[in-house]
Amino acid sequence: MQGEIITVGTELLLGKINNTNATYLARQMADLGIDTHYQTVIGDNINRISETLKKSLNRADIVILCGGLGPTTDDQTKEGVAKALNVRLLTDASQMAKITNYFDKQKRVMVDTNRKQAEYLDGAMILQNPAGLAIGDFYINENGADVVVLPGPPVEMKAMFETALKSALIKQYSLNTHIVSRSLYFAGISESELMDGAEKIAMATPLISIGSYSQAHAIEIRLTATNASMNNEITSIERQLINKYANFYLSDDAKDNLAQLVVDKLKEHQQTITAAESLTAGLFQATICTISGASNVFNGGFVTYANDVKEKILGIDHSIISEYGVVSEPVAIEMAERSRQIMDADYGVSFTGVAGPDSLENQVPGTVWVGISKKDGHTITKQLSLPATDDRQTIREKSVWQVLYLLYL
Ligand code: ATP
Ligand code: MG
Repeated sequence: MQGEIITVGTELLLGKINNTNATYLARQMADLGIDTHYQTVIGDNINRISETLKKSLNRADIVILCGGLGPTTDDQTKEGVAKALNVRLLTDASQMAKITNYFDKQKRVMVDTNRKQAEYLDGAMILQNPAGLAIGDFYINENGADVVVLPGPPVEMKAMFETALKSALIKQYSLNTHIVSRSLYFAGISESELMDGAEKIAMATPLISIGSYSQAHAIEIRLTATNASMNNEITSIERQLINKYANFYLSDDAKDNLAQLVVDKLKEHQQTITAAESLTAGLFQATICTISGASNVFNGGFVTYANDVKEKILGIDHSIISEYGVVSEPVAIEMAERSRQIMDADYGVSFTGVAGPDSLENQVPGTVWVGISKKDGHTITKQLSLPATDDRQTIREKSVWQVLYLLYL
């Protein structure tokens, strides 16, 4: 079965929002065993929507469109779809009543264009919207691919998919829903190296597919089988992967991100942590505090961006900074040790580096020194050489996750 995803919205084309709906839908389709061969993004324009859809109708079994079901005149997806399919748009009376009721309750005046949200393609199965006013459509097409139309706001789109569309798809196409999909999370290793090894392990077992997804804090390896009876085979591959990459393995639960694991570990040993941050300017501390219960392990820390603040607040000797440069191992050591001493913490971590885009003291963007000072007086350091092509925020985030990884080991 072949599917296509068409996301509609001029905002998407302008790069104003990330196309998370396409990512979500692609994943859902994969889980249902529908291959996605094309993904298209188009602006809010009737003719282009219609022309694009017509092409898809000829080459796919199902096309899912998403976005542009709102009440405003720029939202024209249904008109475009109706044009391509050559069907009329009808008004669903019960949805119309819901919309009228909604505006009455809110004591707001309903404008005429709100009626659009009760429209559906003649002949389509109506998909209810548990989170908004626009209804969706599932249109079974005699002359080409079937067509689904979903709203754009991610909460509405997901709610409609989960509560109405998923079961309809399974029923309509007798989909094999015995798909088992499980993920393992790794860090501290490159995605390509990990995938290379993982593919070799998985190759021995046909019918299990493997995919990877790299996030700032972890690399996800996803194992999927189209048959529930393959649970044991998946478990066996998981074991081999964990064995082979024991040094890089984090968890089998996406919720256990590195920050969570580090906070858990500190809590377990009743230890505290602090930080002195230059280029990351508090991002490490903010990341630790995304975890509930962070107050058990974190009391406070330092953002020491400018050199004189490093001297004034942390008491670092001016001569160290002028002799070695601010992006240097000795400064990372000083920042880590002094922050730990001032806060009387078990760990003090430090970040000093170049976030870019300009070089600093002849050091290129992506050059970062990090330090971890421990209560026993031992301090470890690491120089990170992040790709100069990374933007400022990415360099700052990667620095934070690298230190979390060092703390987790
Ligand atoms: P509305 O009634 O809100 O206008 P709509 O169905 O017309 O709903 P859009 O106008 O296309 O949907 O998008 C509404 C909002 O939903 C966008 O501003 C954006 O924040 C979000 N959104 C739309 N499409 C996507 C997408 N593909 N990925 C992520 N977010 C999206
Ligand atoms: Mg809209």
